[in-house]
Amino acid sequence: MELINGEYHIGGIAISDIVALSGVPVYVYDAAVIRKQVSRLLNAFGKTSVRIMYACKALTNINILRYVRTLGVGLDTVSIQEVELGLLAGFTPSEILYTPNMVSYAEIKRAIEIGVHINIDTISVLERFGHDYADRVPVCIRINPHIMAGGNERISTGHIDSKFGISVHQIRHVERIVNSNSMHVNGLHMHTGSDILDADVFIQGAEILLDVAERFPEIRFLDFGSGFKVPYKQDDIETDIETFGSKLSMRIEEFNKGRKTPIEIWFEPGKYIVSEAGIFLAPVNVVKQTTSTVFAGVDSGMNHLIRPMLYGAYHHIVNTSNPNGTPRIYTVVGYICETDTFGWDRKINEVREGDILAFYNAGAYGYAMASNYNSRYRPSEVLIYHGHAHVIRRRETMPDLLSTQIDQGDVWETGLHA
Ligand SMILES: *Cc1c(COP(=O)(O)O)cnc(C)c1O
Repeated sequence: MELINGEYHIGGIAISDIVALSGVPVYVYDAAVIRKQVSRLLNAFGKTSVRIMYACKALTNINILRYVRTLGVGLDTVSIQEVELGLLAGFTPSEILYTPNMVSYAEIKRAIEIGVHINIDTISVLERFGHDYADRVPVCIRINPHIMAGGNERISTGHIDSKFGISVHQIRHVERIVNSNSMHVNGLHMHTGSDILDADVFIQGAEILLDVAERFPEIRFLDFGSGFKVPYKQDDIETDIETFGSKLSMRIEEFNKGRKTPIEIWFEPGKYIVSEAGIFLAPVNVVKQTTSTVFAGVDSGMNHLIRPMLYGAYHHIVNTSNPNGTPRIYTVVGYICETDTFGWDRKINEVREGDILAFYNAGAYGYAMASNYNSRYRPSEVLIYHGHAHVIRRRETMPDLLSTQIDQGDVWETGLHA
């Protein structure tokens, strides 16, 4: 957000204009920020060939998918429905990677029929796959390198108790299955979870994949998943992409020296691409002084933005309606009948009922995790592109809430079955 002539703007458009267009609450995305993040990534790896597969579970609006496609980005998908959405958004199967975990084998078969890249993360699935498709369909294998990502257990996937990936200690077994079935392993994958702060941790994981890659001569790419940290607060540490990029690129070039065809490196960022591009706007319904704090209660809650309640995520909060107000301390909460606290003891410019609060870093896992809990409508979404605000999703209405319900009328009163 920028303050222009005393009014907050997103992507050059005044908040008041956005609100007039879409109403509130609303998720607002700035395409320019998405583009900037993608080009930062694409430019960080020197002459090493790098491919970005946007992890679309972070934000799946079809307009976002269409937009990232124009930036030369592929898709990382975790469900057959995401694969299908990707196709509807114009991606070809070869631009889509499917990384399932614990899904039915029927779903994996469907993805194979569509022709997307398949990432296998379980020995039993690898065996079935080897039996059914061995020499016809190449596979990528998801390895758990047992590298701990950041400090948050709940968003880390590389630890020993994780349900994701095939342990790096099981590679001999993988090799047996692959060789016995004459399978073609064309890629190796790891995704250790979010919030890796340190480039060296990433390089450590890279070394493990490179080591495993020596055993599979047909490897064309190494997919390092994601884990790039974005800043949530002022002065927050973020992954130093440029330093990391040049370190990794050097290591890959060294590896490529001994090979006929150089390997590509792939990444699957979700948060890195869309988190900072999104701002959630919600009006304040109530300012309530209690004995211990001042609550600012917004016309929203965990039904719209659940990250703070689900895993303690921090979202910076700004009062867009009072740029010159005196900062005071507030606890920002929602209207849901649960303890849905967005943030305790936040310093926010004096909040009045009707003011509009902005929640930062709302692009990733914001709308995507929204629900109808308490029979509330999910909000609208706006994408700002080249100085124009486009409504890319309308707010829900009562017919939306009822759309999948089958109302049996008065059967329950009359006892007469229709
Ligand atoms: C969720 C996920 C990602 C993206 O993670 P971010 O933290 O949003 O960058 C990448 N790869 C896989 C397999 C995922 O499940």
